[in-house]
Amino acid sequence: MQKTQAQTSNAVEPKIKKRPILFVDRDGTLIKEPEDYIIDSYHKLRFLPGVIIALSQIQAAGWDIVIVTNQDGLGERYSWDDFNGPHELMLEIFASQGVTFKEVFIDTTYRHQGAHTRKPEIGLVAHLKDDPTIDWERSAMVGDRITDAQFAENLGIGAFLLASSDPNLHCGTWVWPQIAQHLLAGHPVPKAQEEIAAAKDLGAQV
Ligand SMILES: [Mg+2]
Repeated sequence: MQKTQAQTSNAVEPKIKKRPILFVDRDGTLIKEPEDYIIDSYHKLRFLPGVIIALSQIQAAGWDIVIVTNQDGLGERYSWDDFNGPHELMLEIFASQGVTFKEVFIDTTYRHQGAHTRKPEIGLVAHLKDDPTIDWERSAMVGDRITDAQFAENLGIGAFLLASSDPNLHCGTWVWPQIAQHLLAGHPVPKAQEEIAAAKDLGAQV
């Protein structure tokens, strides 16, 4: 009997515990996007409704959270010093409520440069595709622009596009409490392609 048990346990490969990632955009997703689209001072830092509690629930339920943000011309159009102050304060406020970000990826190029690191391209996170500890099926991207859903599509994961107060964006319909409820209930993540189609129906610019 003991021998059988030993043989059985030897036959079982050690199982890797996989964790899903919730990729999140920053401006217009975690914090509100100001009219000039640049958060280069403390007074421009405003959080989206419900985002802190939603992310704390999602993290507690087992998701890692990773920021992927395009910051056009950071270091040129506006300085890293001006960016870092409000950015670090944002991270501290999240941390004070138990939300920590596993990684923060920032692309500083302009759209016309066509960099492979700029969303919707996935150059900043492509190395994660080889990570056997990531549960891709339950991973998703949350953003406020159609390029965020295209990033999800390129990465092979689902997407949630947020309702925006900016009429020029108007991509999606999700709000943070709904996203947390959806994920915690174990519902499948919306397919990126469907979020893209819905955004186009809403009149979002591609
Ligand atoms: Mg955004």
